[in-house]
Amino acid sequence: MATQKHNKCSFCGRSEKDVPLLLTGINGYICSDCAMQAYQIVQENIGLRTSGSAGGFGLKDIPKPRQIKEYLDQYVIGQDDAKRYLAVSVYNHYKRLGQKKEDDGVEIEKSNVIMVGSTGTGKTLMARTIAKLLKVPFTIVDATVFTEAGYVGEDVESILSRLLQVADFDVQAAERGIVFIDEIDKIARKSDNPSITRDVSGEGVQQGLLKLLEGSIVNVPPKGGRKHPDQDYIHVDTRNILFICGGAFDGIEKKIAQRLNTHVVGYNSVQNQQKIDSKNLMKYIVPQDLKSFGLIPEIIGRLPVLTYLNPLDREALRNILTEPKNSLVKQQIKLFEMDGIKLTFEPEALEYIVDKAVEYKLGARGLRSIMEAVMIDAQYDAPSGKEKKLVITADYARRQIEKSHHLTA
Ligand code: ADP
Repeated sequence: MATQKHNKCSFCGRSEKDVPLLLTGINGYICSDCAMQAYQIVQENIGLRTSGSAGGFGLKDIPKPRQIKEYLDQYVIGQDDAKRYLAVSVYNHYKRLGQKKEDDGVEIEKSNVIMVGSTGTGKTLMARTIAKLLKVPFTIVDATVFTEAGYVGEDVESILSRLLQVADFDVQAAERGIVFIDEIDKIARKSDNPSITRDVSGEGVQQGLLKLLEGSIVNVPPKGGRKHPDQDYIHVDTRNILFICGGAFDGIEKKIAQRLNTHVVGYNSVQNQQKIDSKNLMKYIVPQDLKSFGLIPEIIGRLPVLTYLNPLDREALRNILTEPKNSLVKQQIKLFEMDGIKLTFEPEALEYIVDKAVEYKLGARGLRSIMEAVMIDAQYDAPSGKEKKLVITADYARRQIEKSHHLTA
């Protein structure tokens, strides 16, 4: 990258003193401005964008549901049911996109997904992981930021602004994208009865969201956020956008239990066929429970694929520490390896970390902060020390946690 005194960019002709940076080639030079411009042109022409190739999707290029699940298995522990539902929905989404117009009139309908499960059980992780595998624009939005038009907060249309952004404003690509809406339960109205008072964060937002889920042409302010009179809108057709929603639905188990107890007979009755697993009522969830929780029936109807995530037990937490491709333990080992130090954890130390995560009731989310607290001193000292080996014992882990006041407070 050596530059000489009077060299000029071979593209724009400016001298090296007039440009931010001049790169040297075998027979010429290119300035950083021209290089950036060239990059954009390449992107536009070769299609390095998220949209994938210009034409439709060849079914043979699409990962099959089993492959999608196997991929998820590398990063997400357990949650087999949710993985299967998600894999099939995503696969069908691709099929739908690849369907030719002149087919026999059988139109595959969109299958938006709703995943119900306590916080920290892997809903977002699953969505993020699947995004890595996909060739369509993908974005994650949080439903808590939405309020009804006219209130402080974001309009639901801003979901599409984000999708447009990840699609590099290629509207066609965005129209085939996938949106993960997190914390969908937070826009449930507070009771099953339609409210008489105005409900800023509840039903109004659900109505707004419904418009997107149903498939309609939505006017999207390009910069997102509040609408502004002099902004040109971008028209986005949401018919082919796949929506995956996730929520903890705290307390929904009560509604499920009530229903299971009161409907002993009936087509939903689980009691007739098997003993109810009262520790994990979530697996008996049906759309009607979402209604009892406060989602409007129209929204539920637009989220036909309903699946659940299991609470994480000790064994799952223990596996999460070590099994995933980028598990917390593997990440720590890698960090130390970069300093030439071989790090190992005694099994009892890992058990201790799991104990603490269970005790703090933070689910898998807690594992990370506990691990950081255990490792902070070693991470601080080891790179300057002489030791080339470090073994984390349960005693060491305990001492570290007892020292870290923010975790024990
Ligand atoms: P939520 O269900 O609230 O969306 P997340 O997916 O954000 O939970 O999980 C929080 C963190 O916990 C993740 O980043 C991941 O490290 C870990 N985690 C949660 N569930 C699992 C799981 N089933 N397998 C592996 N890691 C998990």
